[in-house]
Amino acid sequence: MSIRPARQYAPFELQRQELVSLLSSRGIHDSRVLQAIGAVPRESFVPPALVTRSYEDSALPIDNRQTISQPYTVALMSQLLCIEPGHKILEIGTGSGYQAAILAQLGAVVVTIERHPLLSQKARTILEQLGYSATCRVGDGTIGYREGGPYHGIIVTAGAPDVPEPLAKQLQIGGRMILPIGTLEEQRLYSVVRTGEEAWKATDVGPAKFVPLIGRSGWDE
Ligand code: SAM
Repeated sequence: MSIRPARQYAPFELQRQELVSLLSSRGIHDSRVLQAIGAVPRESFVPPALVTRSYEDSALPIDNRQTISQPYTVALMSQLLCIEPGHKILEIGTGSGYQAAILAQLGAVVVTIERHPLLSQKARTILEQLGYSATCRVGDGTIGYREGGPYHGIIVTAGAPDVPEPLAKQLQIGGRMILPIGTLEEQRLYSVVRTGEEAWKATDVGPAKFVPLIGRSGWDE
């Protein structure tokens, strides 16, 4: 019989700094976003059984057959939002709450909507425990949250068939929405800037792969 020694892991702080270096080498250049990734404990948002994989640059499963997004995707979308402290940011798809924590760490005033009550409740608890302020709402995020807007930025962390019109209308002029658009299998990431009362300009940022955005202006359940 052979007893294998337990695998040794670097402390989470060290793993977090290694992740920051990796994201920097992959093209994330906004130093405030890199600092936020270096500050938010991703291990707090990952299911206990997967905690040793917290700093892999990969999406991981969470409850309700959803995922916590890949750190590179979180960093890229945060960078594309061009957040300044005090900006009002609406997130659709709270999931684990990790992206919301990054937005809050960047100084945004965050409203985040999740369709699964269990995920929203868990995210709210973790965000509170870590001292991040974010308004967590349960519901169909494709209709947005008009009362909290207009927003400087909207981030949709699930793949949509098209730009949800209610969200486009809740952007302030000059504001931008970052969202994946495409089929259920694969999407492209878009940055959509509201350029006027009835004018928007969309830029294709690259390939993406997300779980589906399900709702009135999304996919059917
Ligand atoms: N931002 C999350 C994080 O940091 O862990 C990852 C989100 S996960 C990739 C996408 C989430 O979008 C899922 O939790 C899913 O339930 C949610 N979702 C899908 N359609 C939605 C809708 N119409 N409104 C709100 N949330 C939705």
